[in-house]
Amino acid sequence: MANNLVIRALRGNAKSFSLSSKNINQIPSTVANLTSLLKLQLNNNCLSTLPIELQSLCQLTELNLGNNLLEEIPPVLRYLPSLRKLYVFGNQIENLPEDIFGALSKLVLLNLNHNKIRVLPPEIKGLTHLEILSLTHNQLEVIPAEIALLNKLTELNLTNNNLVTLPPQLCFLPQLSKLYIARNYLKELPEGIFRLSKLKVLDVAGNCLTMFPVDFHLVRVEELYCEGNAFVQHKLVESIQETEVLSLKEQAARLILMECRRERSVLRRALALHPAVADALSLAGRCALCSQAFLTTWLECVRFVNLRKDMKLRSSQSVPVRVQLCSYSCFNQSGHMYYGVASV
Ligand SMILES: [Zn+2]
Repeated sequence: MANNLVIRALRGNAKSFSLSSKNINQIPSTVANLTSLLKLQLNNNCLSTLPIELQSLCQLTELNLGNNLLEEIPPVLRYLPSLRKLYVFGNQIENLPEDIFGALSKLVLLNLNHNKIRVLPPEIKGLTHLEILSLTHNQLEVIPAEIALLNKLTELNLTNNNLVTLPPQLCFLPQLSKLYIARNYLKELPEGIFRLSKLKVLDVAGNCLTMFPVDFHLVRVEELYCEGNAFVQHKLVESIQETEVLSLKEQAARLILMECRRERSVLRRALALHPAVADALSLAGRCALCSQAFLTTWLECVRFVNLRKDMKLRSSQSVPVRVQLCSYSCFNQSGHMYYGVASV
């Protein structure tokens, strides 16, 4: 029956061809003769491989291999250079070969949902045209920093994985408008998430977040999903302030950072000759009250941001957003709404 369909498609010089849901475990070799094909649907079958002969489909732009029995990305995909949309969801794939990404450099959509992928290779950076990357229901534990090189990425879906952290470089994806990271094990989001200026949808539900990063209220999202986290509560408890003696390194860093703020600072010019020191100082934070910079020692506080009032979202929920203060002397000033964080 599959062969009859191929013969009919051959006669019609078909651009699109489907063998979806035909319960087949191999592709008729005649499919390789459909050289005008742009779109091929092979989803919902029992395929465990694809014949290498399919490399004749050099015009193919869309291939759906979803819901089959593939244990690896079929090698023939290396020879289909026109592919723009690739669906491989619902298979048994554990590993992604590093060299596949260079061969698929024209992809704009890659859907690998519902597989068993543990590692996303750094070579993903080769997919320079990628706009949508979906890897829900896999076993990813880390995302490589190289993901930040996918300049055209607008949608990233990492829902239902084993992520415990995200690379800070994620905040440099210039076009990202939808970020789905629900149901992982994230304890915090990368600082600097407010730099995602195009972000419209953020789903962080079902993680282990205790608070949002510094300046989160500046993110201009239109939809935020954050239920099922371990956010600190707005509950007042007694606490003792232990005066901390700053280390010599911290004191020196604060002095250098302060001095470097002066426009004609000699130190600022000297830093250019010491990139390692400049790198270390680039991680400095700034006190939300007095603006003094600090390096490794600060007082972690939160402010409670009302989603409706402060971020113009539909929910009236208040969520904790991290605030860093330089010292207890700033914390003890009156007139601010920052709370110290206590574990009770
Ligand atoms: Zn301060």
